[in-house]
Amino acid sequence: MLGRTLREVSTALKQGHITPTELCQKCLSLIKKTKFLNAYITVSEEVALKQAEESEKRYKKGHSLGDLDGIPVAVKDNFSTSSIETTCASNMLKGYVPPYNATVVQKLLDKGAVLMGKTNLDEFAMGSGSTNGVFGPVKNPWSYSKQHREKRKQKAHGENEDSNWLITGGSSGGSVAAAAAFTCFAALGSDTGGLTRNPAPHCGVVGFKPSYGLVSHHGLIPLVNSMDVPGILTRCVDDAAIVLGMLAGHDPKDSTTIQDPVKPFTLPTSADVNKLCTGIPKEYLAPELSSEVRSFWSKAANLFESEGAKVIEVSLPHASYSVVCYHALCTSEVASNMARFDGLEYGHRCDINVSTEAMYAATRWEGFNDVVRGRILSGNFFLLKENYENYFIKAQKVRQLIANDFVNVFNSEVDVLLTPTTLSEAVPYLEFIKEDNRTRSAQDDIFTQAVNMAGLPAVSVPVALSNQGLPIGLQFIGRAFCDQLLLTIAKWFEKQVQFPVIQLQELMDDCSSDFEIEKLSSVSLKQ
Ligand code: GLN
Repeated sequence: MLGRTLREVSTALKQGHITPTELCQKCLSLIKKTKFLNAYITVSEEVALKQAEESEKRYKKGHSLGDLDGIPVAVKDNFSTSSIETTCASNMLKGYVPPYNATVVQKLLDKGAVLMGKTNLDEFAMGSGSTNGVFGPVKNPWSYSKQHREKRKQKAHGENEDSNWLITGGSSGGSVAAAAAFTCFAALGSDTGGLTRNPAPHCGVVGFKPSYGLVSHHGLIPLVNSMDVPGILTRCVDDAAIVLGMLAGHDPKDSTTIQDPVKPFTLPTSADVNKLCTGIPKEYLAPELSSEVRSFWSKAANLFESEGAKVIEVSLPHASYSVVCYHALCTSEVASNMARFDGLEYGHRCDINVSTEAMYAATRWEGFNDVVRGRILSGNFFLLKENYENYFIKAQKVRQLIANDFVNVFNSEVDVLLTPTTLSEAVPYLEFIKEDNRTRSAQDDIFTQAVNMAGLPAVSVPVALSNQGLPIGLQFIGRAFCDQLLLTIAKWFEKQVQFPVIQLQELMDDCSSDFEIEKLSSVSLKQ
């Protein structure tokens, strides 16, 4: 047993129980075996094997190596990767190979990590299901757990139960599925409105969004620059801290990053929970919240109390405006960000010679899906001269009020906020696609978006399995730049709840034969 976590496997590498190449090959074979999940858009097999070989040389020389050396990682396909195609799951960027690495990708490689590939997402990260990218939806590995499949059979009453697999949540669904299926030991997602934290609980992994400015977003193809943050997906909190330690710090290429030097994020083994004050925002008790999530939320609060922490109800009075405010700001920034895709310099170009305008229009029509086009239209509407004050400026003011609510709470005695991450466990694909993208995002991100508008750190930790045998997670929100304290509390909590991290083999007990795996596959992996 090599270990399930990054730290454990890193120790196994250091002690020589496995070589980086063997580890890389194991992950590559799991990627092939789980192709039907559609977690990866591009598998960088050759690059990965070469990086593993380099790492092996370093181990052989007996260098004292960092925790990431030889560790398989995956990166969402909206981070630029030099010499590896970067598509944002869009026709617009199919075939685009960036000339440089995003800062976070470069940092991972500099630390010796092995890049397994680029993971699937909603087109340009706009969505909350990982269902609308051009390479098809991502399937939740937990759809295939024995316990869940049995429950589903009981419910299906003769329907074709396999057509009703579960979504991962999004838009970082590919990275989450890749981590949950053990095809890598850490994955990068992007978090603009919560979409590292949103899919994490659905797949039973830890999803961490650092404080805005702690980690560079240079090379992350922008959705909403004022909110975009690289997110970290791992199978335990400690691993998230290790990766954060490698990524955090000033980047001369990203003026929003902090200037001060960053200390390593080493989490203590115990936390002084009895000195903490945990806030429970009353506005987060949404009527749509499932009774199971609500019950785990209150059990978690009781756990803190029983350990001597002070648990108090707090108010974030402007929280209810966050979805509508996010929409106005997101689409406005999208309208401006997407202007760069004009068919001239890179990406798709429609072969129309009538006029430049006609070429732009046809390129953008063919290149973007209806979600992206819809957001460009809304954003341009909000930015029109006659609407600018009424929509964009007003939304900026509301954003400030939302951020101030958090400041007020953290200026009182509160150290951390405890909230649900999502309304419920993962839902079946067929149910999810009944609603349009905007409605879904509005419902699915209600507990996460305000955090992005305030630039705070937050982490979703898996808590337990629901009656349906599916993972449920809770979110902790911290003070800006108090990421270390936040992760320390989350680590303590994780230890108390002992979420059953299930090995892929167990997870897919019922569909282990290749024949069945092929049968379940509806979308093919692009390799
Ligand atoms: N659901 C939100 C959106 O579609 C959040 C996106 C994200 O965090 N990547 O814009």
